[in-house]
Amino acid sequence: MTAWLASTVSAVVLTMSPVSATETESACGEDLGAHAAGTPNAAASPLMTVLPGIAVRHRHWPSLAEGSRPHWASSVVLWQGRQAVVLDPGATHCSGLELQRAINHLAGQPLQVDLLINSHAHAEQVLANHAWRAPVAALAGTQAAMQQHCADCLAALTQDLGEAALRGTRIKLPEQVLQHGQRLQAGGRLWQVLEMPMAHTQSDLLLWSADDGVLLAGGLMDGHRLVLAQGRVVGWLQALAHMEALQPRWLIGQHLVAGPGQVQAAIDQQRQALCELVRRSWQGLERWQTEAEVLAQLPSQGGAADPLLARFNLGRAWREMEVLWLGQEPMPQACAG
Ligand SMILES: [Zn+2]
Repeated sequence: MTAWLASTVSAVVLTMSPVSATETESACGEDLGAHAAGTPNAAASPLMTVLPGIAVRHRHWPSLAEGSRPHWASSVVLWQGRQAVVLDPGATHCSGLELQRAINHLAGQPLQVDLLINSHAHAEQVLANHAWRAPVAALAGTQAAMQQHCADCLAALTQDLGEAALRGTRIKLPEQVLQHGQRLQAGGRLWQVLEMPMAHTQSDLLLWSADDGVLLAGGLMDGHRLVLAQGRVVGWLQALAHMEALQPRWLIGQHLVAGPGQVQAAIDQQRQALCELVRRSWQGLERWQTEAEVLAQLPSQGGAADPLLARFNLGRAWREMEVLWLGQEPMPQACAG
C-alpha cells in the first residue's frame, strides 16, 4: 500500500522516540549510494536555483514493490544571507541530511535553517522533519492530520521503500500553527500564507510572494501525477481558480517549476486532469451507471501502479459527483464546456 492510501485508514496511537542526527549520518551515506544504484541520476537530486533566494530539490524514492511507481516530493529552500527556511523537507531522515548538505553548498557557507514548513500532511513531504533541529510550522488542518495519520504513513512508507531507506526516520509534528492570511519573511521575501481547504488533502498551504509573483503551490500542482487524496475535486478546482486569480509569474509545485509564460498552461493541465475525473463520473451518472461500471470503463494506462491510482481518483470523484447529481446541481462550472 502506498503512503497516500495508508493515510486514509484509521488512526493509531502516535509514538515518538527521539534519535540524534549523528546516529544515522554515516549509515545515510551508504544508503544514498544504494538509492542511486541502477538508475542513472536517480534519487540524489541536487538543489536547483530557480530565482535568487529560491532553490528547489525534486527528489524521488524508489519503491521496492515490483511495478510500483516511486514516491515523489519537491522541497523548496528560501534563503538569504546565512539563513534559510525549507518548505517540505522530504520523506526520509537520510534525504533530510542530504538536503542539509546541499543547502550548505548553496551559499558557499553553512546556512542556518530557522524554520521548516509542511505544505500538507503527506509522508513524502513531512517525514524528513526530524532530520532538522529547526521548528516545524503548518496549517492547523495539516497538524491535525499528521497527528492522526503520520504513524500509519511511516509504517506504509517503511514497507514500500524498505527499512534501510527509512533508517533513522521518526515523526516530528509541527509545533507552530500557521493561519490563512498570515505573512512571514523567508529568503528575503515577504510571503503570505494561504489555506486551500479540501483540495489535494484536507488542508493545503500556498505561499504567495505578491512582490515577485512567486507562488509555492505545495501539493496542489503536480508535474507527475494527480492524487485526489483526502481532499475533494471541487475544492481542488476552486483552489486552482484562486491560484489563477493571483496571476503568478512563477509557480513551483511537486516536480514542477513553471516560469513566465508557462504558468497558465500548468494550471490548465492540472485542471484538465481533475475535469477528466469529473466528466467521466458525470457521464456515467447521466447513463445511470454504477460506480463499478464507471470504474470498469477506465482505460488502463502505464505501469502496474497506475490503474490503482486512476481507480482511486475516479472512485473518489464519482462519489463526490453523485452527491451533486442526485441533488440536481450542475456539473462543476470549471469542467463544463
Ligand atoms: Zn500530497
